[in-house]
Amino acid sequence: TEACLKAIDAADALNAFVHKTPEIALERAKAADARLAKGDAPAMCGIPVGIKDLFCTEGVPSQAASNILNGFRPEYESTVSAQLRDAGAVMLGKLNMDEFAMGSSNETSCYGNAVNPWRRGNDDTALTPGGSSGGSAAAIAADLCLGATGTDTGGSIRQPAAFTGTVGIKPTYGRCSRWGIVAFASSLDQAGPMTKTVRDSAIMLGAMCGHDPKDSTSADLPVPDFEAALTGDIRGKTIGIPEEYSIDGMPQEIRNLWADGTEMLKAAGAKIRWISLPHTKYALPTYYVIAPAEASSNLARYDGVRFGHRATLEAGDGITEMYEKTRAEGFGPEVQRRVMVGTYVLSAGFYDAYYNKARKVRALIKKDFDDVFAEGVDAILTPATPSAAFGLGEMKDADPVQMYLNDVFTVTVNLAGLPGVALPTGLDARGLPLGLQLIGRPWGEADLLNTAQVLE
Ligand code: GLN
Repeated sequence: TEACLKAIDAADALNAFVHKTPEIALERAKAADARLAKGDAPAMCGIPVGIKDLFCTEGVPSQAASNILNGFRPEYESTVSAQLRDAGAVMLGKLNMDEFAMGSSNETSCYGNAVNPWRRGNDDTALTPGGSSGGSAAAIAADLCLGATGTDTGGSIRQPAAFTGTVGIKPTYGRCSRWGIVAFASSLDQAGPMTKTVRDSAIMLGAMCGHDPKDSTSADLPVPDFEAALTGDIRGKTIGIPEEYSIDGMPQEIRNLWADGTEMLKAAGAKIRWISLPHTKYALPTYYVIAPAEASSNLARYDGVRFGHRATLEAGDGITEMYEKTRAEGFGPEVQRRVMVGTYVLSAGFYDAYYNKARKVRALIKKDFDDVFAEGVDAILTPATPSAAFGLGEMKDADPVQMYLNDVFTVTVNLAGLPGVALPTGLDARGLPLGLQLIGRPWGEADLLNTAQVLE
């Protein structure tokens, strides 16, 4: 813990930690030492971790990287961070992210972006760590902590993992409690671990998940021993390679990475099968209707009364002006865009044309996966992202849809509620990490992590 606290102070330029909690860390580290001395060593005992700013942490600023939550210190602890704490983990501080987890580059954060510790060869250009869990990814990649929590609504664990050479798993929807995590799109949001290795992710996931009566969508299922499942034996498993993920304009090095991963799984005794997930092409537009719709509803609570920031009012201002000024000041441009898109697609005149249509297409996307799993496919291998990490500021003037294209391989997994893991399997020509994604059956995280470990 002391070494990590020192490393964090020396790495302020990465802007990964937006709030440091050294007193809490040292107190918990001492408690962990005492537990270890008594021979009581739970899974995460004494392990220094960072917590994404989206998780409410008792008495510690929890702002979802938004100005609208300025000054908010929750009186409660999210279930996931409480579980980690109870399993002995040591919280070092809160990690940077895109505002309300909306973004793919960490550039929508009210704290300014976190920075990827990787560089393109000798080129000094600062690169994005990805988003929205960019602070988590940068912190792991720079050895500031051994594990970090992330959340993933459309790829926010897996894309930053791929951009930083780290491992991240988005569990099956319902595996981890969402209680106490600031809501973005409630039918898609899941928490998950981000770590250096697949084994670490298996250990940390085991400590984070399980049934929670405070979240009605959390599943009442036993939690398998994910670490014990890492046997390395994948003989006889069937791995599906979906043709729709071979998109136009995908760089050759991503194609090669994907082919190499396929060969590795084959060499370990898996059967490879070409599969089709025909509705994949509708996934991005479907996600970018459903996620903003749910976000516009979830973000209605930031009204200047209940949480955080309230605008300074002028004489004559009424409650409407208070709402308007508070929300105009408190929300950044990307969040405002999502609220506008969301309220539009949910409005009486357009509900059927957009929101209801998107829900129907979502069901078809899920059915594509159900069908291939029913035909005996155990896991699906795809690239995690269509490119390596890009330069900070590079996408600033681009059409926002360009940024959304980053999520092309990850959003299907959230729409279908499936587990997906991203892990580093190679480097591009300039020495940047590239990642592959494995998608598993519902509740199949143990099997999925075991398959992923073969690619490490
Ligand atoms: N980049 C996607 C978005 O902006 C995904 C974000 C996430 O998974 N939280 O919505």
